[in-house]
Amino acid sequence: MSFRASVLTLFPEMFPGPLGFSLAGRALEQGIWSLAARNIRDWATDRHRTVDDHPAGGGAGMVLKPDVLAAAIDAMPPVGPRLLMSPRGAPLTQRLVRELAAGPGCLIVCGRFEGVDERVIGARGLREVSVGDYVLSGGEPAAMVLLDAVVRLLPGVMGKEASGAEESFEDGLLEHPQYTKPNSWDGIDIPRILLSGDHQAIARWKRERREELTAARRPDLWQALKAGKI
Ligand code: SAH
Repeated sequence: MSFRASVLTLFPEMFPGPLGFSLAGRALEQGIWSLAARNIRDWATDRHRTVDDHPAGGGAGMVLKPDVLAAAIDAMPPVGPRLLMSPRGAPLTQRLVRELAAGPGCLIVCGRFEGVDERVIGARGLREVSVGDYVLSGGEPAAMVLLDAVVRLLPGVMGKEASGAEESFEDGLLEHPQYTKPNSWDGIDIPRILLSGDHQAIARWKRERREELTAARRPDLWQALKAGKI
């Protein structure tokens, strides 16, 4: 059964975009996942196909209208959770990515302008997800980030099933440094232990480097791990 992604956006031409290349693109061709990007404007009912209006109470910008967006959501197949890309949302984590990848699919609403009318978020049970503490001009790049992360976890997408296991975040640690041939480059050698063939020693080395890096670069992750929260 393939993963079904639906996207509601004012710019469906942006999709699949980067998701049409490499791992995700190949998986799309193979039918491991499917992507339906639909234009919210198709559900506008007036002559000008209006999708937005001025914010109530004043303020800059425009807000996506609840009636049009709700009609669009209602017309989409009911597959998996309904997400709204939003800087106010819960941070996108590998845990959420894994959760989504285990399901049948999802619907992603991409905001534009100042965002969407609050009422439609509640009425249609939209789960707000953020890709970071910064503001994008639209939800589309955020939706692509989320889908890229999900698709690579679908069975059959990554070459070796194992290649996910040791990666950053999968067990709360960042990844160890990686090297490849030539063994000596620019006067710098690959750490000798990696060429030793001693699998136990190599595993120990990787683990130590991962802990060291996580403690140094992401004290927040490191503390959470020590406290047993990951
Ligand atoms: N006025 C809003 C920002 C709107 S940005 C605020 O201050 O919170 C326009 C749209 O871009 C949003 O509706 C959302 O869909 C998307 N977007 C912007 N930043 C994002 C982020 N960090 N994560 C996910 N989506 C984001």
